Amino acid sequence: MAEPYVFEISTSGRRGVKLPACDVPDAPLSDLIPPEHRRQDPPEFPELSELDVVRHFTRLSQQNFGIDTNFYPLGSCTMKYNPRVNEVVAGMPGFARVHPYTPDSLAQGILALCDDLQRRLCEMCGMDAFTLQPAAGAHGEALGMLLVQAYHANRGKSKRRVLIPDSAHGTNPASAALVGYEATTVPSNASGEVDFDALRDALDDDVAALMLTNPNTLGVVETRVREIVDMVHDADGLVYYDGANLNAIVGTARPGDMGFDIVHLNLHKTFSTPHGGGGPGAGPVGVRADLEPFLPIPVLRSEDGVYRWETDRPQSVGRMRSFVGNFGILARAYTYIISNGADGLRDISRHAVLNANYILALLRDLYPPAVDRVCKHECVLSATALARDHGVTATDVAKALPDHGYHAPTIYFPLPAVTPEAIMIEPTETESKETLDGFIAAMREIAREAVEDPERLHERPLTTPVRRLDEVTAARKPVLRWTADA
Ligand SMILES: *Cc1c(COP(=O)(O)O)cnc(C)c1O
Repeated sequence: MAEPYVFEISTSGRRGVKLPACDVPDAPLSDLIPPEHRRQDPPEFPELSELDVVRHFTRLSQQNFGIDTNFYPLGSCTMKYNPRVNEVVAGMPGFARVHPYTPDSLAQGILALCDDLQRRLCEMCGMDAFTLQPAAGAHGEALGMLLVQAYHANRGKSKRRVLIPDSAHGTNPASAALVGYEATTVPSNASGEVDFDALRDALDDDVAALMLTNPNTLGVVETRVREIVDMVHDADGLVYYDGANLNAIVGTARPGDMGFDIVHLNLHKTFSTPHGGGGPGAGPVGVRADLEPFLPIPVLRSEDGVYRWETDRPQSVGRMRSFVGNFGILARAYTYIISNGADGLRDISRHAVLNANYILALLRDLYPPAVDRVCKHECVLSATALARDHGVTATDVAKALPDHGYHAPTIYFPLPAVTPEAIMIEPTETESKETLDGFIAAMREIAREAVEDPERLHERPLTTPVRRLDEVTAARKPVLRWTADA
């Protein structure tokens, strides 16, 4: 099964393209490049035919798990199907081939799309203004923290702390620290929600903001969110909504109505654009009206139907990214939003929540959930029972799933201190009942194998191109580069 490297299938002199003979006199290389800048030996590029290249990369692509081939229930990642119409729109030459330095007057269609997308995101989130600049979720959080800082500084205040629940995504404390804040952890209570007493104890005049995910990363909704928001506002702090995963509430509930001041979205999760392969993302940030002056420049304006960028904004935190952000992702998300419409978006959250609860209901006897209550778009199960009785861990379960044809869910997040042996499953709304039933059967089969043959489970996966890797060696002695003599 192992696919050789391109260097190993290289044959000296083989070419992938045929160029016609040169019909102008060859300029001697010596005239063009000074001798000291010329290499002595030609570079060791692989030499292959076009067919060699196509087959090599097609074979490699088939060794991978992808949303187009398999169910991919990676929690907190929203690996939903990406409708092909998004790709058609994003690939239209008027979008895909426009140079970033094209004058505004010749890029009015692009600016109109950005403006309408901002307007729709405002409406969906109940916010007053949006910027599309941030390139991903964590980048949006960093901008959010800069906005918090600018807001307090403008009122002559300097606060040092940001409160973050223990179930939060790891990027939250990192973003707060990046901007110079000290992150204070707020523990969760037994039902998976923010512990009120702990929050009250942590709140004082030095708290700049609370960063909250709702539903939180335990997959449950903060039922007292309005009280939490009021408490932080009363202590002169702002409240930040991590809306990376909006799948549970899109079209149904709005962060603005819950009282949040700032929100970021991951267009590359809820709004269907490809994600998870290290590709580009988009993390737009929405704010309440009184934070609008601090948004990054330039800000999109329209006068008499003509769009232009406004840069003269003295209170702005500055630029977060070049040009208009990752426009290809914006175009895909826009297509997704208008092709679903308001009713379609509401159905997304309803079906996402239904699918997650279906899995929870049919697996909770074997994989005890972190908190046993109705979940939102994802459920956090655990391998605690299998670990206690049979020495089979969340890692073993995850490593066995590819043998059944499924991508592994997220494991050990939320962190073991919050949920030991966590298995976080997010099915998304795009999966059929047959697919969910197949996955549930595989999870139950794995639990049976844990009883009957735990040793075999420690060995899995057995059918993948690469078997279980030695993660300790991979972390301690990573091999990051191929060399001919390795
Ligand atoms: C994915 C995610 C993020 C980070 O988003 P990136 O685009 O990967 O930077 C932040 N918060 C939550 C809750 C997430 O699920």
